[in-house]
Amino acid sequence: MAETAVTRLTSVRSDIAAAEQDAQRDAGCVTLIAVSKTFEVDDIRPVLEAGQRVFGENRVQEAMSKWPDLRSEFDGIELHLIGPLQSNKAKEAVATFDVIHTIDREKIAKALKAEMDKQGRPLPCFIQVNTGEEPQKAGIGPRELESFLKYCRDEIGLNVVGLMCIPPVDEAPGPHFALLEKLADRHGLSKLSMGMSSDYDTAVGLGATHVRVGSAIFGTRDYPA
Ligand SMILES: *Cc1c(COP(=O)(O)O)cnc(C)c1O
Repeated sequence: MAETAVTRLTSVRSDIAAAEQDAQRDAGCVTLIAVSKTFEVDDIRPVLEAGQRVFGENRVQEAMSKWPDLRSEFDGIELHLIGPLQSNKAKEAVATFDVIHTIDREKIAKALKAEMDKQGRPLPCFIQVNTGEEPQKAGIGPRELESFLKYCRDEIGLNVVGLMCIPPVDEAPGPHFALLEKLADRHGLSKLSMGMSSDYDTAVGLGATHVRVGSAIFGTRDYPA
């Protein structure tokens, strides 16, 4: 059979099911986020027709240009923001997305909370943790997490459900996933957004509740995201 997004989706789903079973986790406990960034509506539609409903995009503007049309064609779409956010896009982000994965500083947290209140959309949020403490990378440092979490949850009342990470590209991801799991557990957070095309099976083994898989479903991206 020719490799299409739909055949690849099927194999990613069965890999996840196998990884859940290997880790003695409940069948279906991991949510697959199909990362459709850079792909067009016509590339995404077959994946929706195959039953996938949870998608990830990393740019607010791009998501706004693609998803209103798809939402009018398909019920039950859940759209996750997995890319960096600027506070001047908070309004559009809250209107366009259903879950936000990339909260990593007070200014963003505050701007989003204000918009959520205004729009009456208290979206579930993940805090992005820079587990590798890479200077160029988004995310709160593991040592700052406790006070940042206190700010988000207790001071402003954001609905923080879990943690998200993107491990350094040149390191084995396992220790980063294990660290994220430990941090979430310590702070009473039940959701873990971790694992991409190259390492989602490892992430499932280490407790991921959400994996963000792009190229393993949609194919290689023509231009960098
Ligand atoms: C692009 C992206 C992904 C998906 O990456 P693939 O390697 O194509 O699976 C996952 N998470 C984030 C934050 C991304 O930006």
